[in-house]
Amino acid sequence: MYTVEFQKRGLPHAHILLWLSQRNRLQNVEIVDEFICAELPNPRKFPSLYAVVTKYMIHGPCVTLRPTSLCMKDGKCSKFYPKKFQNETTFVAEGYPIYKCRDMGVVVNINGVDIDNRFVVPYNPLLLMKYQTHINLEFCNKSNVINYLFKYVNKGPDHVTASIGNSNETVQYPRVNDEIKQYYDCRYLSPSESM
Ligand SMILES: [Zn+2]
Repeated sequence: MYTVEFQKRGLPHAHILLWLSQRNRLQNVEIVDEFICAELPNPRKFPSLYAVVTKYMIHGPCVTLRPTSLCMKDGKCSKFYPKKFQNETTFVAEGYPIYKCRDMGVVVNINGVDIDNRFVVPYNPLLLMKYQTHINLEFCNKSNVINYLFKYVNKGPDHVTASIGNSNETVQYPRVNDEIKQYYDCRYLSPSESM
């Protein structure tokens, strides 16, 4: 199941849900680790992957590194970054996985600040190398997580309330305000999406 959204500047992005057949289930932590990674690759061993991950898969920076970041709500990052260092992938009770995120000393310097694994958005190395773009890959195994994802794929297009009027119109007194005629609930379309 998938939906394609167009961001305000016109670039499309997709939210995609995949159901795996019983045979292909990611049944344990080791298998999840094979498919989903939330760490910077070793820049000497995997220079091309390191370049793609540091270009596309770093969240923020936010919090103390950049408090004005758009993800900041009430002094906290709304996407829960930076994550905590974590030696192994585990599943918390709500069904969310917490991915392995070790303190390996590997960093990327962005605008003079060293960013470590805690700001890496979970990804699949093969998909990143193939598509050379931002692809966040996550695992979920509980129905309440599915609820959350369905909300995402079904939330529908952005809306804007617009009014149409004539600025040169002579103002009549008493001024008649017909709010129903004045306002239209419009679907917000960027030029690319309209095309
Ligand atoms: Zn953030």
